Amino acid sequence: DSINSSLLSSNISMMDLLFDNRRFRVMPGNPDIKQLATDLIHDHKLEEPFFVCDIGEIIKKHVDWIHYMPRVRPFYAVKCNDSPLVLETLAGLGTGFDCASKVEMRKVLELGLSPTDIIYANPAKPRSHIVAAAELGVQTVTFDSKVELLKLKNYLPGARLVVRIRCEAERAQCPLGMKFGVNVEDAMELLDFAKSMDLDVVGVSFHVGSGCMDPPVFLRAIASARLLFDYAARELGYNLNLLDIGGGFPGNTGTSIAEIASVVNNALESFFPQGCGVEIIAEPGRYYVAAAFTLVTQIHSIREVKGDDTTRYMYYINDGIYGSFNCIMYDHAIVRPEVIGIRNADALDLFECSIWGPTCDGLDQVCSSEMLPKLDIGEWLVFGDMGAYTLVAGGTFNGFPLPKVHTVSSAATWNTLSDSMKTQAFVVDDVPVFPNSGVGYNRDAVGWGCVEGAVIGGVVS
Ligand code: PLP
Repeated sequence: DSINSSLLSSNISMMDLLFDNRRFRVMPGNPDIKQLATDLIHDHKLEEPFFVCDIGEIIKKHVDWIHYMPRVRPFYAVKCNDSPLVLETLAGLGTGFDCASKVEMRKVLELGLSPTDIIYANPAKPRSHIVAAAELGVQTVTFDSKVELLKLKNYLPGARLVVRIRCEAERAQCPLGMKFGVNVEDAMELLDFAKSMDLDVVGVSFHVGSGCMDPPVFLRAIASARLLFDYAARELGYNLNLLDIGGGFPGNTGTSIAEIASVVNNALESFFPQGCGVEIIAEPGRYYVAAAFTLVTQIHSIREVKGDDTTRYMYYINDGIYGSFNCIMYDHAIVRPEVIGIRNADALDLFECSIWGPTCDGLDQVCSSEMLPKLDIGEWLVFGDMGAYTLVAGGTFNGFPLPKVHTVSSAATWNTLSDSMKTQAFVVDDVPVFPNSGVGYNRDAVGWGCVEGAVIGGVVS
């Protein structure tokens, strides 16, 4: 308590709690990310790229989720961004987790959560990962083939099985249907097969595609799931009780969560009304983290390209498509730079430029054509909405390190979090943030604490 009150009084913003991935800075007001980045660069003479993560953004997303889809419990997709503070925050808020591998399952369990807070939602699983799921006690798994059922029968015979059907958005940033999911008729056949092997099928899942820009697809998918629920009960005597509506929810662009929620809620009311005994879950990834992360990069080289009557510039920055900007290749992301720092009034004319990553590969281009002021070596460019599918898939090709994450929180958010530790439930904008207080939230294991005078999100014993 005394550490808390000292943090929350006097000059908190000057407290340097940042130079450790697990610590964060508490700001008196809402964090101004660009100003904070400028301060960090100045105070610590930074030269490497870095992320600023605003934990408050993640909490805000959770508050919105509960507001818009109170019936749907989110199981955050770890693959999207597995930064420790992200996982700890979401665990503290009471979400479950969608894991794709044994490493992700272990990571989540190390937070102190229960195996029932995990869905192992990779329909094609290596044998050793199924064995690990069995050892770890993770039971709920998805499947979409007979081969997978045979493996599960051998290595996880008590699994709670969730069949993944295919129902694709007409427009999505990353379609997934070509790889996973079966149509409803084939799913029926899989259920027959599961029944013949005495396996326990408990539900239906789908993923409409990541970055879905076709909200009505959720109605089609939920209606298809209903067909399977009915078939399973009528023909096979299964009593399915889990509907997993997958991911596809927007980060900061594309469609809005309100629009998707309206389709989802109406479809649930039609096909899985309140009181029908079916638990509804989802596997949001980018929704939670996209906006929370801002990438800050430095220009280390410049080439001037003179045309007949214009000059273009090529800026080389210290992160590229082999690092955080792998999202350009893998996530089909379009990234936009903003300049930070104080500029002379006469340096505000705009020039066409391209932006390149630090490696020797010609493919390593971040932006092909932007209009920016004429910049100098040592200036910094920031890129917003960089939390989803960036750090997780980046490498260190040519020896360039991945950016560190510096985390920040407003004092109000921090207050709310510390309150939550005491009361286990808190209210933001009239929305209870732990609606299922106690369900899936292991209060004894995960919480928020203070260590050695620094505020960290972490495990409190
Ligand atoms: N669930 C599964 C099985 C996925 O493959 C993915 C993304 O690839 C997600 C959830 C997360 O999707 P999104 O980030 O669109 O919410």
